[in-house]
Amino acid sequence: MKIGNKLTLYIVIALIAGITIGSIFNTMADAAWVQWIDQYIFNVLGQIFLNLIFMVVVPVVFISIVLGVVSVGDPKQLGVIGIKTMLFYLTTTAIAISLAIAVALVLKPGEGQADLLNTEEVSEYRATELEGGDTELAMQTTFDQTLINIIPDNLFMAMADQNMLQIITFAIFIGVGLIGVKEKAAGIVKLFEQANEVIMWIVLAIMKYFAALGAFGLVATAFTQAGFGAIQQLGMYFICVLLALFIHFAVVYGSVVQFLGKKSFVWFIKMFAPAMTVAFSTSSSSAVLPVSLETAQNKLGIRKSISSFVQPLGATVNMDGTAIMQGVATVFIAQLSGIDLTVGQMVTVVIVATIASIGTAGVPGVGLVMLAMVLTAVGLDPAAIGIILGIDRLLDMTRTVVNITGDASIALVIDHQQNVKEGKFIKGTSKYVDG
Ligand code: ASP
Repeated sequence: MKIGNKLTLYIVIALIAGITIGSIFNTMADAAWVQWIDQYIFNVLGQIFLNLIFMVVVPVVFISIVLGVVSVGDPKQLGVIGIKTMLFYLTTTAIAISLAIAVALVLKPGEGQADLLNTEEVSEYRATELEGGDTELAMQTTFDQTLINIIPDNLFMAMADQNMLQIITFAIFIGVGLIGVKEKAAGIVKLFEQANEVIMWIVLAIMKYFAALGAFGLVATAFTQAGFGAIQQLGMYFICVLLALFIHFAVVYGSVVQFLGKKSFVWFIKMFAPAMTVAFSTSSSSAVLPVSLETAQNKLGIRKSISSFVQPLGATVNMDGTAIMQGVATVFIAQLSGIDLTVGQMVTVVIVATIASIGTAGVPGVGLVMLAMVLTAVGLDPAAIGIILGIDRLLDMTRTVVNITGDASIALVIDHQQNVKEGKFIKGTSKYVDG
């Protein structure tokens, strides 16, 4: 079983249908029958799809990292790949936020809109979110805690919480352990290989039989609840985020794939499209992992040992799209408040947003929780998040596509560099020894 072009086409059609029907329903959102359809059909379809993929995400990540580590075979080499990956991730994220800040400074989305700060949404956000758990959660993600949290103190809790970073850590330990005991554990390696076959078969079955329906449900409910109408007042903010996302996607990833990965970016987009469509509908880098791993390995041809390590790491550590939203939002809120951010504050935004993304899971809306941290760090009122809350779901879809594209393009580059190192790439051409 494979994810074919036909399936991608079905998902794209489902997304277009979901956007269209959701937008129409949004104009009649008060009607009881619209609410009924939204709650019992769109939402149920969407949530079932989400549960189906979250059901497999922990085993997929765990098994594929163990196998990845075993097939690299040398823990030292794994360390080199890990450091290289982290450097790529941190650099692209820093570029993303800087780009976002620049776009917002030029287009000034918050100018002349100061009254937005006095709206009900801001006081509501202050009353519910900030006094509830979210800030506490955000504050826990300080740098030292992020470092400590990389090591799980309870494996089952890490799995139950779907804490990717901790699952990755444990899987690496198991992989290195399996390398350490060599033939003595050959049976366990075989077991992991067979388990991998089974779990990937399930992933593909979910995709084949439910992805289009699920994607339709998720997108239709998102647009029914936050149609294009909500965007009007925040039009300029919306445009700035989309523009920065687009530039980062086309220019930064375009160059990364083309010049560092030596592959055509158009080809890359075509091959990676199935994962992008699932990212758009689920708004979750973690949920899309089973599909993005499958697509990267079977369609982009990235070797399993690299893809299975670099992409799950990226799903929590590398969120360029999220960073872009945070960069634009910070400048936007500063402009609303009539504050000119100093260069020092901008650097703080870059650093805090980059660090915040390391310990945060790729789930819907988490970018806003991280934004509370960023705003607090530069002395802005986190309650201003209430202003952008209503339209965030729509931006979340788009930035999640950027987030996972970043992970896959870096995986492609690391794979290419590994091929060069192993003499598999013919220098001066764009060809590999094995064709
Ligand atoms: N939904 C995003 C992701 O999973 C995170 C965010 O920006 O809220 O990648």
